[in-house]
Amino acid sequence: MKVNWDSETCIHAGECVGNSPNVFKIVNDEFVIDESGASDEEIRATVAKCPSGALTISE
Ligand code: SF4
Repeated sequence: MKVNWDSETCIHAGECVGNSPNVFKIVNDEFVIDESGASDEEIRATVAKCPSGALTISE
């Protein structure tokens, strides 16, 4: 699984970081996505909660 993030669409609501903190992280002021940090099921659920549509999944 690969999660893509569109920085221009993101409204920084923080749903992703709040729901899957082991996947969506801020490291050295950079937004990092570590797909190995949770199950595909959890990641799909978190991506679905993104209010802006900035997160998409490609496989
Ligand atoms: S949940 Fe979506 S809008 Fe909110 S910070 Fe994450 S990517 Fe951005």
